[in-house]
Amino acid sequence: MSKTGKDTVQDLSGLKLGSSVATRQLKYSLLAAMLLGFVITAFQIFTDYQWLEGVYQQANERVVDSSLPVAAEAVTKKDAALAEVMARGMMLQRSISSVKIQLGDGSVLYQRKRPVGEIPTSRWAEKLFGGLQQLEIPLQNENNPSADALGTLVVALNPQVYVTAFMSRSAWSFLANMVFAATMAVVFASLSYFVFSRPLVKLAHYIVNSDPSDVKRSLDMPPTYRHDDEVQLLSSVTVGLFGMIRGQIGQLQRARDDLQDANVNLETRVESRTRALNEAMGKLEVLASTDPLTGLANRRIFMMRLEENLSIWKRRDTPMSIILLDIDRFKLLNDTYGHQAGDAVLVSLAKLLRYSLRDIDLPARLGGEEFAVLLPGEGAEGAIILAERLRSAVEQDAVAFGGKHLNYTSSFGVISLPAQGTAGKLDAQVAKNVALLKSRENTDVADILYSLVDAALYQAKETGRNRCMPVDLANLADQIST
Ligand code: GH3
Ligand code: MG
Ligand code: MG
Repeated sequence: MSKTGKDTVQDLSGLKLGSSVATRQLKYSLLAAMLLGFVITAFQIFTDYQWLEGVYQQANERVVDSSLPVAAEAVTKKDAALAEVMARGMMLQRSISSVKIQLGDGSVLYQRKRPVGEIPTSRWAEKLFGGLQQLEIPLQNENNPSADALGTLVVALNPQVYVTAFMSRSAWSFLANMVFAATMAVVFASLSYFVFSRPLVKLAHYIVNSDPSDVKRSLDMPPTYRHDDEVQLLSSVTVGLFGMIRGQIGQLQRARDDLQDANVNLETRVESRTRALNEAMGKLEVLASTDPLTGLANRRIFMMRLEENLSIWKRRDTPMSIILLDIDRFKLLNDTYGHQAGDAVLVSLAKLLRYSLRDIDLPARLGGEEFAVLLPGEGAEGAIILAERLRSAVEQDAVAFGGKHLNYTSSFGVISLPAQGTAGKLDAQVAKNVALLKSRENTDVADILYSLVDAALYQAKETGRNRCMPVDLANLADQIST
């Protein structure tokens, strides 16, 4: 909330005087007041006009009517002085601009005019009150109305006084209405500001400045407001919402803490399990690849390494050999001295093999009392010498068991694959067979070599045991071709 909150506070600073709502209110109030003022003024002007028009007509009529008897008497008596008194009286009525009394023969008994320019006429006089008018009223003998007229009363009317009165009344009415309307507009706008805008702006400031996400501090209360209206409702709703937000944030934080704890626990548990698993896998690997009694490699590892070596043999100019050995009459040994004695012999033979061989050689227990030695880089000659040396060492080995020294012997089969460089020196048949072997899959070659060397071992047994029998690569066509 922090950054955006501050920005909003800045945006709100323009609202301090309730500018938007109150100003708009003022603007529209003024406009409406003006319109209303215009309408009222127009109405007033219209009624004023009607009234003044009536007054104008009636006043003229009354003055003229009341003067007629006097005028008739003046004409009858040809009394100019009387006519003057009458004319002066008539002209007190300001809309009458001249009075003339003519005798029956057309001669003027008396005439009176206002000085020129005393009542100037405007075009409004024409439009509103019929402009300048002249009344010619025949003067009758009162006692004999049917007789010829005695003379004529000529009255000129000028409504300018009424026009001026009408104009000034209208102007004042307009001015008063407008001032009143404007005042009311300002009053309403101010009320609107105090009643509505200001509490709203205060509430908005409160909303922007409070931080409901800060659950450590207690929640600020909204500005005090005494009326139970929409603004109050809005501030109550806001406080309610803030409360909900705080509740939710609190829950989220607790959930996050719990999750973090759970994660830490999980990590340590996973770490220890992984360690245990790695250890178990290491043990399993050793178990899967070693013979538990002798600690030598087992058949699986031996065959795997054999196949690897066959790849190297195929690609590089190095020979390789396998020695297979089987303890002679081991069953008898077991039967005579017991199974544990047999085990001791097996362990001793394994030890012997391990100490007699190079690091790169691999001795293995293939099963029972059958062992094998993989000799990478060793040709036929060296392999047979080594087999012979092993045979002799086995023969001399005396295994201490149960206070006795047990002697035993072993028969050996040996097979060697020559280096490629020696191919030229090989017997043609041997070279052919080697080439055939090279063309076969490693797995097949391994099986073939094993069965060949096993057959040689069998021959060694057949021909008296405790001897070494090399495989002759010249006559293996049967095994290789199948
Ligand atoms: P040969 O000279 O023809 O090889 O005769 P042999 O008695 O050695 O051969 P045979 O296959 O008849 O007997 C092998 C014996 O090896 C049978 C079995 O009791 C014994 N044997 C196999 N594995 C173990 C072992 O782990 N410990 C012991 N003590 N004896 C074993
Ligand atoms: Mg055997
Ligand atoms: Mg045996």
